[in-house]
Amino acid sequence: MTVRKRSYRSLASLQRDTAVCRACVEAGFPLESWPVRAPRASQRAYLYGQAPGIVEGEERLPWRGRAGATLRRWLELEGDELYETFYCGSVTRCYPGRPASGRGDRTPTPREQELCEFWRDWELRLLRPELIVTVGGLALRRLLGIPTLTHAIGKSFVRDHAIVIPLPHPSGASGWLNDRTNRARLGKALTHVRRELGQIGEPR
Ligand code: SF4
Repeated sequence: MTVRKRSYRSLASLQRDTAVCRACVEAGFPLESWPVRAPRASQRAYLYGQAPGIVEGEERLPWRGRAGATLRRWLELEGDELYETFYCGSVTRCYPGRPASGRGDRTPTPREQELCEFWRDWELRLLRPELIVTVGGLALRRLLGIPTLTHAIGKSFVRDHAIVIPLPHPSGASGWLNDRTNRARLGKALTHVRRELGQIGEPR
């Protein structure tokens, strides 16, 4: 049964409860994995993605599949360097399964997104990152309320003293990156992320 305390004092305690969360299953949603886990808890930067894919769900680790390889290439971070640099959260944490069409992965419903936001909000409160990178349109909407990638990629924002830099999703499923202007927007955003990473220093 899902445990959600009124208050958390440490990320370790929060991670223990997140790892066994079944809130969406208890609300009737058909999830196909347990929550992925964010390795480590001392990073100065927070990565906010959409939802795990099938590989991530099986391994219970974020960014393990093809999109993770593209993201590492974009950020010039290899293997576990991604986890050492970023605390990895996402709009939802469990593999949502296939949609009725059978193509791609099911987008988590607004209710699932709401249920999972509890974990994100506590992570941000306890980690106090200096940099937040959102990945994909859903994460962008959920964190900043900005409706489209085109309005945000290449720009930076401030949320609770953290710089927020949005990126598109590396899966390429949306086709947004087929546009040359959008690829230029991505290049600008990545330059900005690398510059910020260079300034925030080593993990605590
Ligand atoms: S998606 Fe989030 S809220 Fe839903 S069961 Fe998984 S961890 Fe819990």
